[in-house]
Amino acid sequence: MKYCTNCLYPNTKPDLVFDAEGVCSACRSFKERSDVDWEQRAKEFKEVTSRYRSKDGKNYDCVIGVSGGKDSTYQVIRCLEAGLNPLCVTATTCALSDIGVRNLDNLERLGVDHIEVTTNRVVRKKLNKFCLNEVGDISWPEHVSIFTVPVRIAVQMNIPLIIWGENPQNEYGGPAATGKSKHLDRRWLEEFGGLIGLRITDLIGVEGLTARDLIQFTYPDDSELERVGVTGVFLGYFYRWDGFTNALYSQAFGFETFATNVEGSLTNYENLDNYQAGIHDYFKYLKFGFGRATDLANNHLRRGRLNRADAVILARRYDGKFPWTYLGRKLEDILADIDMTVPEFVAVCDRFTNKKLFRTNNAGELIKDRDGNLSLITPLT
Ligand SMILES: [Zn+2]
Repeated sequence: MKYCTNCLYPNTKPDLVFDAEGVCSACRSFKERSDVDWEQRAKEFKEVTSRYRSKDGKNYDCVIGVSGGKDSTYQVIRCLEAGLNPLCVTATTCALSDIGVRNLDNLERLGVDHIEVTTNRVVRKKLNKFCLNEVGDISWPEHVSIFTVPVRIAVQMNIPLIIWGENPQNEYGGPAATGKSKHLDRRWLEEFGGLIGLRITDLIGVEGLTARDLIQFTYPDDSELERVGVTGVFLGYFYRWDGFTNALYSQAFGFETFATNVEGSLTNYENLDNYQAGIHDYFKYLKFGFGRATDLANNHLRRGRLNRADAVILARRYDGKFPWTYLGRKLEDILADIDMTVPEFVAVCDRFTNKKLFRTNNAGELIKDRDGNLSLITPLT
């Protein structure tokens, strides 16, 4: 493993490229933000929204996909400040947490209409378990539905504009052209929207699932998108995007943070809405050797709020801990939802662990401490 000379990202991170100076593409695209004329971008936002908003006020001005988290709360506040009448749409998370419920309630109190789409729980559990077993990603159905459900609603209700949050290809690194994009379309979704090599059609036949079980996970047809003229834009293209200040801003409007730092994370203000999120992040660590704490340390580091040496200490302290609890809920209770035991879970973890990245004994078995934690062959420095 090789690490970026500016931030903490390793070269194992998918879609990340390093330049001759050893600086990663996420750092490069962040630097380009300092050249952005944000006043001009704010004007552009006004132009875009006035072009698409309902002319006679009989329909909504835009759709916003919301989880009730810091970013979507911030998006709603910004859109209300801009005088828009948004329709907020939630694709319910796989295992909605108590704090997640309260934050969705808070979002409604901001003064918006809100539709919550909760997909079939029986189907969802099958998908969670299958995707964990097959691609090492328990959150696959959630990461698909948060991109398909708002688009489906936009089509059905004839609302052409969808306002998304940040472009993750910009904040977390990815091919340059997609990082700069202000649009989210089907091509973006298929390449980066969390599909990781599994298509919806691959799921037909799994555990008896049929196409009619997967309607909400299906992106609308091109012809439907064209009929309504659906356009998705990233708010992070128009406004300087920072998860930390989004949280600060949202807190002033009732957004609730967790009492302590979230397990495996560096902060108390994000990934609060799904008990399974800790498992998702842990698998990223097993596959690529870095976790959510690294992502967050990098966000602070690039904005000058942490120096690299301190960021290293924090990331090493939090990253990659075996997820015994998440948001205070015990792993065995989280797994009970998908009919899996802790030993079965550990076996899945071991199967997806990249053995080139973690220490093993002479027999080729992973070396773990008494809490089940692995150790990297090339620790972050
Ligand atoms: Zn970097």
